[in-house]
Amino acid sequence: MIKLVDKKNKFISLFDPKTGFYVRSGVIEKGKDTGVDPFMTTYPQLIDVGIMGSCESGRLGLCKNAGIQCYQDGLHKSLPDMTLNDFKKIVDESKGKVLQIALGGRGNPNKHKDFGAILKYCRDNDIVPNYTTSGLNLTDEEVSLTKQYCGAVAVSWQRGQHTRDAIYKFLDAGCKTNIHYVLGNFSIDEALEKIDGCFDAFPSGINAVVFLAHKPVGLGDEEEVLKAGNPKVKEFFSIIDNKKDFPFKIGFDSCSVPGILNYTSKIDKASIDTCEGARWSMYISADMVALPCSFDQDHRWGVKLGDNTTIQNAWNGAYFEDFRGSFKKSCPSCTNRIDCMGSCPIKRQIVLCDRKEKDLA
Ligand code: SF4
Ligand code: SF4
Repeated sequence: MIKLVDKKNKFISLFDPKTGFYVRSGVIEKGKDTGVDPFMTTYPQLIDVGIMGSCESGRLGLCKNAGIQCYQDGLHKSLPDMTLNDFKKIVDESKGKVLQIALGGRGNPNKHKDFGAILKYCRDNDIVPNYTTSGLNLTDEEVSLTKQYCGAVAVSWQRGQHTRDAIYKFLDAGCKTNIHYVLGNFSIDEALEKIDGCFDAFPSGINAVVFLAHKPVGLGDEEEVLKAGNPKVKEFFSIIDNKKDFPFKIGFDSCSVPGILNYTSKIDKASIDTCEGARWSMYISADMVALPCSFDQDHRWGVKLGDNTTIQNAWNGAYFEDFRGSFKKSCPSCTNRIDCMGSCPIKRQIVLCDRKEKDLA
């Protein structure tokens, strides 16, 4: 069990690298837990590292043809992949402070030429690597490296044969395997059908299905954004709220927290965390720009890392603090303010809330 003590923000975090179990205390005053959630940490506990700068399947249009609206726009944009040296600099600064690194970027991390070395360097420095992949052209060696080093792997639900093949390969190798399922207008009917009884629609043996809110970023269409008040959205959350016999865990990205707060009543609020950008997590792109969240593709809050600018500098700097300002000021009269904080500062239209108290700063 790894224990992190944050003296500045007065809380303790515990993380089990073997199981992924994570818990943190409330703010501790005079040796007692006040039960008040800490707002942030002094250094990100999770860093999302975009090691991939380009995507072969994206460039070939395979994802677009399969109906995938890539938020990194792998069809039109590309950068060189992150170098192993740059990746090591991130790990060297983060050792003893970061618990997990989520590998990502514009493409499948398992296709990075230094994939194995990247995973090993994380583990050698007591950081658990995880990643998400489309599963396209997944090799046995990549599966074996995943089993050896990763805490978990997620396969994007692209509905193709490659999706199922990849999931079964990971499961056969004994990897903790999740499905990342993007929830938008294009997928809500399918999602309703799957969670309302058709369990065999997902491969058996998976650990969890994690629902991710569709965002109008990159190739993501505005019209696919789910809106508050949509009866299908209410029905979706209601089924999750009331059903107990799922054969896998159900998870959500933190972007979906307003939907959980507005459309469920039985989910324990202690188990949810609203947007973690610039509070608990950071994204670093292949060209070493630190961002509060990977969905800030315009780099509005971007800080270029380099010899004179460290991850800690970016975390403490004005851009990240500006991002946090939204959480501090939004929706002052809402009774769920502490659990939601107004949610996404980047794309307001994804916030599943139509309360009259909604007042996003
Ligand atoms: S900034 Fe927006 S997209 Fe990013 S994690 Fe927060 S809610 Fe989600
Ligand atoms: S009013 Fe604001 S804080 Fe309250 S649930 Fe809606 S978005 Fe979240």
